[in-house]
Amino acid sequence: MSLSKSDSGSISTDRISDHCLVYDICLCPICQNILWKPVACKVCENAFCSKCITTWLYKQYRSRPICPFNCNYRERKCPSILLNLLSKLKVDCRYKSIGCENIICYEALERHEDECQYQMKQCKGCEKSILLKDLDDHENECDMIDVICCKCQYVYKQKEMKNHNQIRCLENIMERKMEEALKKQQQMFEQKLKLLEENYREKLSQDGRQINNHHSNYSGDNLCIHNRKHCSVIEIKQSTIRQQKRRHNAPFNPFIFYK
Ligand SMILES: [Zn+2]
Ligand SMILES: [Zn+2]
Ligand SMILES: [Zn+2]
Ligand SMILES: [Zn+2]
Ligand SMILES: [Zn+2]
Repeated sequence: MSLSKSDSGSISTDRISDHCLVYDICLCPICQNILWKPVACKVCENAFCSKCITTWLYKQYRSRPICPFNCNYRERKCPSILLNLLSKLKVDCRYKSIGCENIICYEALERHEDECQYQMKQCKGCEKSILLKDLDDHENECDMIDVICCKCQYVYKQKEMKNHNQIRCLENIMERKMEEALKKQQQMFEQKLKLLEENYREKLSQDGRQINNHHSNYSGDNLCIHNRKHCSVIEIKQSTIRQQKRRHNAPFNPFIFYK
């Protein structure tokens, strides 16, 4: 399918209605088409399609932008007299070759072409290109379109519609409810596990602090009261704590029972 030049952001002169006068100043000096979204050079006042001048300046690779007429380009609005001339133009729709017979005034062109029923759009199901005017009909029939059942929220292809009977629908509802319940249970279990782990760590660090403080509690005369037998009991407790701490640094697994 070949479309006319407004694809590239400008309108070729052969799309202008016969009875319209096309003045030279309505043409872009860069692309030689009808000016499209024009801007002008502040110095020489020549107008260009905004896309054309942007590309032009980009290709210059210079620190100072130079206009196609060799002046230091600074942008200004397109002169209103020129906009006025452009607004008098009547233009063929870019989809004329596919069947659109509309002739649209310059200013309404963009809106018409955005909505033109003769543009191709992709079907959401089979991804074939279809004329916009035929798209609704096609998608209503297209086997590959996704359909959502309003009862069970199940998504299936339109061609499987007849397989989706009441029994299938009920099965889906049950399946979903079970999945939801299972998910809820799992969440609760994970919360409990987290709490258990936090308590366990807190307990370990408390025990550790008590034992570390043990010897600093004895000084002078008190140290005699603190006899060897008492101390060895404490030492056994300390080594147990050290063991627990080593295990504690390993990944937490509540299913391993520590002796
Ligand atoms: Zn241009
Ligand atoms: Zn200039
Ligand atoms: Zn059209
Ligand atoms: Zn389709
Ligand atoms: Zn259903």
